[in-house]
Amino acid sequence: MLKERVVEKVCNAVHREVTLELACNENDITGYESASMMKSCDSCSQCGVKTESGYHWERCVFYGRAL
Ligand code: SF4
Repeated sequence: MLKERVVEKVCNAVHREVTLELACNENDITGYESASMMKSCDSCSQCGVKTESGYHWERCVFYGRAL
C-alpha cells in the first residue's frame, strides 16, 4: 500500500521553509515500510531539481536522508 506524507523543512538551497511530499510502500502483511521517495517540493524549480528535462532529485539537499 502506498503511504504518503507531507513534511515541512528549512531548506538551505532556497533559505526558507519548504513543503515536501513523500511516498513509501508499506507491506500489508509485514508492515515493513520501504525508504521514502520524494514526490514533490513546492520550491523545486528554484534550486535546480526541476529542469526542462525533468526532476533531478539527486540534487536535493535532502536526497537520501531520512525525513
Ligand atoms: S527540492 Fe530543492 S528547494 Fe526543495 S527541499 Fe530539495 S533542494 Fe530544497
